[in-house]
Amino acid sequence: MYVHIVEKKSDGIVVKGAKFHQSGAIAADWTIVMPGQGLREGNEDYAVAFAVPNSEEGLTYITQYNPMSVEREYTKDIYELGNPIYGQRETCIIVFDNVFIPWENVFMCGEVTYAGLAVTRFAKTHRMNCGGACKVGFADVIIGAATLAAEYQGTDRAPHIMTMITDMIRDSKQAHACAIAAAVKGFEEPPGSGVWMPDDLFGNVAKLTIAPGFWEIMSFAGDIGGGFITTMPSFEDLRNPATKGYLEKYLKVKVPAEKRMRITKVLQNWAAGLHGAGTWHGAGSVQAQMISLMRVADIDEKKKIAMEVAGIEEEE
Ligand SMILES: Cc1cc2nc3c(=O)[nH]c(=O)nc-3n(C[C@H](O)[C@H](O)[C@H](O)COP(=O)(O)OP(=O)(O)OC[C@H]3O[C@@H](n4cnc5c(N)ncnc54)[C@H](O)[C@@H]3O)c2cc1C
Repeated sequence: MYVHIVEKKSDGIVVKGAKFHQSGAIAADWTIVMPGQGLREGNEDYAVAFAVPNSEEGLTYITQYNPMSVEREYTKDIYELGNPIYGQRETCIIVFDNVFIPWENVFMCGEVTYAGLAVTRFAKTHRMNCGGACKVGFADVIIGAATLAAEYQGTDRAPHIMTMITDMIRDSKQAHACAIAAAVKGFEEPPGSGVWMPDDLFGNVAKLTIAPGFWEIMSFAGDIGGGFITTMPSFEDLRNPATKGYLEKYLKVKVPAEKRMRITKVLQNWAAGLHGAGTWHGAGSVQAQMISLMRVADIDEKKKIAMEVAGIEEEE
């Protein structure tokens, strides 16, 4: 199923296979394809990287479909959605059924030695951005919405609510700090190339920090918003003459029912939607970062320091 070369021609290559979870690909002009893992000798057909324009012959995009997709399809007014302006992250499976790629768009063709290096360089860049920047932006929305929900409900000065808000900020800013550190400690790789890559350790730690951190942020948002995040009626009920009066009366807090419902809908989108598992797996599931971390963390050096402190002599 991995994308691989099925034919080499004088003017290009023909590829076959599928790529999963391609964020935004359906709306992009071009897709850049590269191996998803290191490869060994014998896997030459899979050591392939190229650029392909959207809608090239032989490409099929099969989009994601989930309860959020259904909600968007059926809503009469997108302003009743939890993220009306930006929507959900749309991913798709791209199927390559004998797609021709001209040589000028082929970047790797059989060089198995470089597949792992290409993946590592891509991964640390993506983990820096995905873990320490993208999710930090998401967290800003969640923290803002949770704070507003608490203010509307009149719980914002309660010590446990304030603790949860500050913990959300800590979770988010720890990952943000790692992304900044990864960028600041970035270096030219390979030397002389003019290409600057992030620091391996901090790039990976950014993602490793936000993976559990984002679940924690969502759990606090769920706590602050209350069960209403999952049990809220629809805005249709707020318009329905049979229920409108009841909702206006019983959902009113320090603010009118509609305002409370709007901020709750935002919290529902983030804390009761697709973002937990999405954040966990995007840019590679956690085990992948752990493996990367153990490669670059220089444990031997740390063991040496501990032995020195403990007065243990190096064994012959
Ligand atoms: C919202 C979202 C957006 C994404 N966008 C993109 C994108 O734009 N482009 C792109 O290329 N990818 C994208 N991805 C893919 C992402 O990189 C993968 O989801 C991630 O690498 C995990 O792979 P997987 O989903 O196949 O899960 P799996 O690899 O199947 O992981 C599931 C579980 O199996 C374990 N596991 C996997 N392999 C092994 C093994 N060999 N031995 C033991 N345990 C194993 C994992 O540790 C994990 O616990 C996106 C993913 C998500 C969720």
